[in-house]
Amino acid sequence: MQAAMQPVVRDIVLIGGGHSHVGVLRTFAMKPLPGVRLTVICTDTDTPYSGMLPGYIAGHYDFNEVHIDLRRLAEFAGARYFHDEVTGIDRGARRVLCRTRPPVPYDVLSINVGSTPLLAGIKGAAEFAVPVKPIRRFNDHWLALLGRVRAHAGTTTIAVVGAGAGGVELTLAMQHRLRGELTALGRDPEELRFHLFSAGADILKTHNAAVRGAFERVLAERGVAIHRNTEIVEAAAGRLHARDGQTLDADEILWVTQAGGAPWLRDTGLPLDAEGFIRVRDSLQSEGDPLIFAAGDCASLISAPLEKAGVFAVRMAKPLAANLRRSVLRQPLVSYRPQRRWLALISTGDRHAVASRGALFVSGAWVWRWKDWIDRRFMRRYGEFPPMAESAAPPPGEPIPLDEAEQTEAISAIAMRCGGCGAKVGATVLSRALARVTPVERDDVLIGLRAPDDAAVMRVPAGSALVHTVDFFRAFIDDPWIFGRIAANHALGDIFAMGGEPQSATAIATVPPGLESKVEDTVFQMMAGAVAVLNEAGCALVGGHTGEGRELALGFAINGLIDESLAGVMRKGGMRPGDALILTKPIGTGTLFAAHARLKARGRWIDAALESMQLSNRAAVPCLIAHGATACTDVTGFGLLGHLVEMTRPSAVDAEIDLAALPLLDGAAETTAAGLMSSLQPANVRLRRALANQPNALRHPNYPLLFDPQTAGGLLASVPAERAEACIAALRSLGYARATCIGRVLPAGKAMEPIHLRCPAQ
Ligand SMILES: Cc1cc2nc3c(=O)[nH]c(=O)nc-3n(C[C@H](O)[C@H](O)[C@H](O)COP(=O)(O)OP(=O)(O)OC[C@H]3O[C@@H](n4cnc5c(N)ncnc54)[C@H](O)[C@@H]3O)c2cc1C
Repeated sequence: MQAAMQPVVRDIVLIGGGHSHVGVLRTFAMKPLPGVRLTVICTDTDTPYSGMLPGYIAGHYDFNEVHIDLRRLAEFAGARYFHDEVTGIDRGARRVLCRTRPPVPYDVLSINVGSTPLLAGIKGAAEFAVPVKPIRRFNDHWLALLGRVRAHAGTTTIAVVGAGAGGVELTLAMQHRLRGELTALGRDPEELRFHLFSAGADILKTHNAAVRGAFERVLAERGVAIHRNTEIVEAAAGRLHARDGQTLDADEILWVTQAGGAPWLRDTGLPLDAEGFIRVRDSLQSEGDPLIFAAGDCASLISAPLEKAGVFAVRMAKPLAANLRRSVLRQPLVSYRPQRRWLALISTGDRHAVASRGALFVSGAWVWRWKDWIDRRFMRRYGEFPPMAESAAPPPGEPIPLDEAEQTEAISAIAMRCGGCGAKVGATVLSRALARVTPVERDDVLIGLRAPDDAAVMRVPAGSALVHTVDFFRAFIDDPWIFGRIAANHALGDIFAMGGEPQSATAIATVPPGLESKVEDTVFQMMAGAVAVLNEAGCALVGGHTGEGRELALGFAINGLIDESLAGVMRKGGMRPGDALILTKPIGTGTLFAAHARLKARGRWIDAALESMQLSNRAAVPCLIAHGATACTDVTGFGLLGHLVEMTRPSAVDAEIDLAALPLLDGAAETTAAGLMSSLQPANVRLRRALANQPNALRHPNYPLLFDPQTAGGLLASVPAERAEACIAALRSLGYARATCIGRVLPAGKAMEPIHLRCPAQ
């Protein structure tokens, strides 16, 4: 993530990571507009490139080759990436509504969400057919289909409804792949039957006669039955019904017919065409709202309706990026001029392709190689980035025109920065942001946020003692809501590790400067995430302090309650020789986020790490206690080894770690192998002196992860060996899917070093 160099004054929000928006991101990466904050909201971190999809189905490409890593691209562009599903737009309040997070404000909005299958009018289609659109979901369907065909004994009949380029290409690609799969299993590929349905008299009706003829020949040679003038009107379990009364039994039904606009677009009030796509002017601006743009399949160009094809979505990126920029700068917009004829390279499944453009027809293996070259070059643009200059200031940009009121705000924002990084965020900004979050109500909050005073006052129930802890750290992702959730979860971890009940929290935060409305929203997003997590833990936010700083940062002082007899308190000391060591969550956050900052981590690894960091340790504690845990700590900044040593010392024992057993977050092995480690790693590595047999284990790939600092890491606990298996099973059923026994507690040996490493090579 990149620190704000200039106050944010405008928000451009991109909904969807389609072919146009990836182009917009790249353009902004190359030429940022200082003062503009770009945010992309997308359901899929791996966004598919349609041109290579048939090649992927046919088995010529792997998953990574045909998907653009949107999180990484956004990071490269200095854009915020919100992994979420958009469910609507509140145009009055200029906010995008999302499935899981609070609404996201925009000044200018762009929509590039593709299309959705029009299944509603076809009885049974939604239930029994596999839609190819949206193509992002198709991969899951395809992998499931692949599994079913492999497992299905005897003949498998596959029906493809829709005989445009997508349907024909998909049929041939699937056939190529599935025949290969059956052959590899020692089965007869002739067990596969393919049927292609066209509602009209032709297949590939938008292409010339030579192209149609070539595909008719290929389909005939490969035994694909073409059903012309056969409009499918109903799908049922294992059967298709046509309008003329014909039926066909089919084990698999794929739906590749014309699609429509996403249903949620209907509620936006934007003018749509008959299929539900957003009507746009030549500038790609909505006909009904000058602040909203649309591109790709979801846009319907009023002046010249276009075929729904990725090539158009790709070409729209340039004028769209220009117009988003011009819209913010209040400059005249440019027009998108669609190409009158466009080149379609349609593959036949077997590394062979046909080129079609107007009356042009050529085919051959060389056409496939040409297509492959074009597609790979396209993908490289979105996957290979020039090295990032770590602290380069962005080039001076054009001044963004502001309204009069905004100019006054901007001047005060600059004045505030002159007060230094500790300058306080304005009281009204803060109170407005906090008024939108609702901390949990507790009887023991005597003075809290409801009637704020100089300090909060809490009642301590008789017989209880207070547990105090504090944590604070800089944002490691450009998503204030998720960051707020993780910061709160991290801070609560210490209370849970002690077996305490969280009672109250006070927050300390720094927020980058900007227009008041921008600062307020950042504070709101961050605190909304944090308060949701605190509330789940029954912990009341009772106060805090927010200042301006170059980077977003958040921390909490948390108070918890425990019985003053200290019964039920799990401390670091207390491990007994023979106990099993259980770790409740996988490790690797340090290396993964170090790699992410250098654009070297896959976006989906970061998604999974963020999920893990939001998993609360709360439910694990009673589970560990119920299984006789004798000691416990949460694994955070000092890394696994540092926290284990903190346990062995007061327990006066040694411990053995099985390096091969360490549960790792997805991608942590790869980023570690690439030498991408956290800046805190060197300080943690000093603790290697605690290792008894370090030289033997140095070469194990997991060795560096012993020192990897964790954010919101799991619990490390010692449990009687005979109960370890049941404890792990119980933890897994509670959602700690990677809970693992990572070693055992040993009696204190004669050597000074308490930690022994076990690795397979020994
Ligand atoms: C089998 C097949 C092969 C094809 N081959 C070609 C080809 O070779 N050449 C060609 O030009 N066209 C091809 N097409 C057509 C092509 O797939 C589409 O025209 C193209 O994908 C449209 O691109 P887009 O950018 O509009 O949207 P998409 O590529 O569909 O991208 C939409 C994006 O929006 C995101 N999104 C969707 N809904 C939401 C939401 N509610 N909230 C947040 N994010 C959301 C998705 O995750 C995705 O990132 C093919 C289609 C099929 C079915």
